Amino acid sequence: MSPTTDPNCVFCRIVSGEIRADIVAETDNAFAFRDLAPQAPIHVLVAPRRHLAALRDVRDSDTELLGEMLLLTREVAKREGLFAGGFRVITNDGPDAGQTVPHLHFHVLGGQPLTAPLG
Ligand code: AMP
Repeated sequence: MSPTTDPNCVFCRIVSGEIRADIVAETDNAFAFRDLAPQAPIHVLVAPRRHLAALRDVRDSDTELLGEMLLLTREVAKREGLFAGGFRVITNDGPDAGQTVPHLHFHVLGGQPLTAPLG
């Protein structure tokens, strides 16, 4: 069982309010905030409040959480005006994928035609 929070994790520190972030949407178990270094005109991260390092750590018991995260991802895309042009959702898991923050998150990217994959 993953710990609920990791005091050394930057996204857990956003959840606790210790680090400020531009939060654009929230649910009971997930939150969405603007990426500090956007790689597209709209670049929002959707993460669980609870600490999970990456998709590999998800369990069958996380089915509801994953659904909640995907629905929040959709809501972010809608609020950010991305339904007309489309958008991309990415998660990086581990070093080969270039994951830099070990707290599960979906990148939501859009606002212009996207050519290369993130990274
Ligand atoms: P990844 O490389 O897939 O782990 O993505 C981590 C993302 O988190 C990067 O796009 C960073 O720019 C972003 N990031 C890191 N720290 C913060 C922060 N304090 N607030 C918002 N975004 C952050």
